[in-house]
Amino acid sequence: MSKNGKAKVLCVDDEAGVLESLSRLLKKDFEVFTAPTAEQGLEIAKNHLDLAVVVSDYRMPGMNGVEFLRHMKQLCPTAARTILSGQIDINELSHAINSAEIHRFFLKPWENDYLKLQIHEAVQTHINLSEKTHFKYLSLTDPVTGLMNHRFFQDELKKCLEQNDKVALIMLDVDHFKSFNDRYGHPEGDRLLAQMGEMLKAQVKLPATASRYGGEEFAIILPKAGDKYAMTFAENLRKLLAETPLVGPGRDAFITASLGIAVYPKDSGSASDLIQKADAAMYLSKGQGRNRTTRHQADTQKD
Ligand SMILES: [Mg+2]
Repeated sequence: MSKNGKAKVLCVDDEAGVLESLSRLLKKDFEVFTAPTAEQGLEIAKNHLDLAVVVSDYRMPGMNGVEFLRHMKQLCPTAARTILSGQIDINELSHAINSAEIHRFFLKPWENDYLKLQIHEAVQTHINLSEKTHFKYLSLTDPVTGLMNHRFFQDELKKCLEQNDKVALIMLDVDHFKSFNDRYGHPEGDRLLAQMGEMLKAQVKLPATASRYGGEEFAIILPKAGDKYAMTFAENLRKLLAETPLVGPGRDAFITASLGIAVYPKDSGSASDLIQKADAAMYLSKGQGRNRTTRHQADTQKD
């Protein structure tokens, strides 16, 4: 939505006359952006990720309409994607529709009232897509910390092992959290976890992900990382956590964490076993006095 409450519509066509007509037709109901090429359309979209509808010509110099909308699906997944064209390769059109790359197809020349109505309906498609995305987001995030949740973590780890040559897994458990909770109550405990969530979000950047594994335990997946990188990453995180004052009950709270690392495929080839090994390494950190990082034992014995 733009500031004036109008849904944003991006029109892309290599004919200036078409863009002018569309702009005139739609600007009363929508905030309209126009671009003469797909490449320029993508540039506009990068600055307006909340686009509601994209209306694209099919035949354009450079990238064609279907390719353009394929990119748009990645860039603005909730924008309704439509093609407005005089002619299109029927095989390509049906493929694009079947693979959900485009939602609607309109023929040139168009009838003004009909097209306007269709764009309004496409805005509804956009709203439905946004809601779906929002529900999916809610089902995969942890409300206390704002991090990804256990369900996301399990799927993400399996996916990462399939797609990467190596993956490091860090398990992180807050030290003495139970006594903190017993002493100050669960709302204070949750406030601490929320601040940890903020810190982890700031430190763990995509493609790496941080999830709340459960309770006061967090899991960080580092795709493409070996044990050296994972150890440096974990140690930096551990030190930062120990040194950063959090807002506690009536005063600053300093907390520490114990961390464990296991690396795929060196330590294990399966997701569940990798979790177990990183977890076991984390418990070694606990046993050795907490506020430390331990690599899976097979590694530590080798060094
Ligand atoms: Mg054209």
